[in-house]
Amino acid sequence: MSAGLLVLGCGVSSVAPTGSGKAVAVTMAPVSTEVSTLGVEPTYAAQATALVEVIGPVTFTIVYDNNTYVPSLRTDWGFSCVVETGDAVVLFDTGGNGTILLDNMEELGFDPQVIDAVVLSHIHGDHTGGLKGLLDTGARPVVYVPASFPESFKAPVRVQTELVEATDPVEVLPGVHTTGEVGSSIVEQALVVETGAGLVVVTGCAHPGVVEMVRRAKAAVGGEVRLVMGGFHLGGAGRDQIEAIIADFRELGVQQVAPCHCTGDLARQMFAEAYVDDCTLAGVGQQFVIAPSQ
Ligand SMILES: [Zn+2]
Ligand SMILES: [Zn+2]
Repeated sequence: MSAGLLVLGCGVSSVAPTGSGKAVAVTMAPVSTEVSTLGVEPTYAAQATALVEVIGPVTFTIVYDNNTYVPSLRTDWGFSCVVETGDAVVLFDTGGNGTILLDNMEELGFDPQVIDAVVLSHIHGDHTGGLKGLLDTGARPVVYVPASFPESFKAPVRVQTELVEATDPVEVLPGVHTTGEVGSSIVEQALVVETGAGLVVVTGCAHPGVVEMVRRAKAAVGGEVRLVMGGFHLGGAGRDQIEAIIADFRELGVQQVAPCHCTGDLARQMFAEAYVDDCTLAGVGQQFVIAPSQ
């Protein structure tokens, strides 16, 4: 059974998850690009010759989250997302438990051995706890961490693979960047991915503030922000605060949002009401294919 196509706005779900264990591709209207399921080539490829310089589709698959989407996958508190650029595979965060991470990746068809780089957002265990399990499979991705991570975390990773400590923005692989360290009490970095349709910013928990993370992403890489996805860390926020954040997102030109993990129920609801079809209330197994505009 193939996974169904889905055009999803918050609270507007046209096709239920299939439960097949396959990721379900999602696009959010208005999007002038194609939606594909895993294993199906986007029709974009056939039209690519018309463009002078082509950046192919970039795929983001949530492999770890506390929100359900594909029912056969395991949910657990934490976050992890696989980014496939066509040239490289990057894992952003690892969830809290290596077994759950690896089980979900296997069910979604991701081989740990093909991951080129792991980028960790911040030190909390629900984002870093799966790394050891991943490395214990024999996978040897280059691991990028905020430089302020404690030595007790960094030293064992260095034994197994190459570790890069980021203070300033770093280009991990072509088109895939980190913001470098943001914040002071809980230092965090976000992933910033260039696509032919704008930047995609992926946040872990956004402890320094999700607006600040987006600002830093734009400053680091430049360009319009197509999508912000991940944890927005607004579980304790009230209506006024969330309204102000949505207004800041608009001012920053954020076109689409996919809040999950630690965003909080009220914030998810308010983003859904504000962004309508340009918001996806994301969960584990959800997949976003961002292709160039035509
Ligand atoms: Zn955290
Ligand atoms: Zn978290």
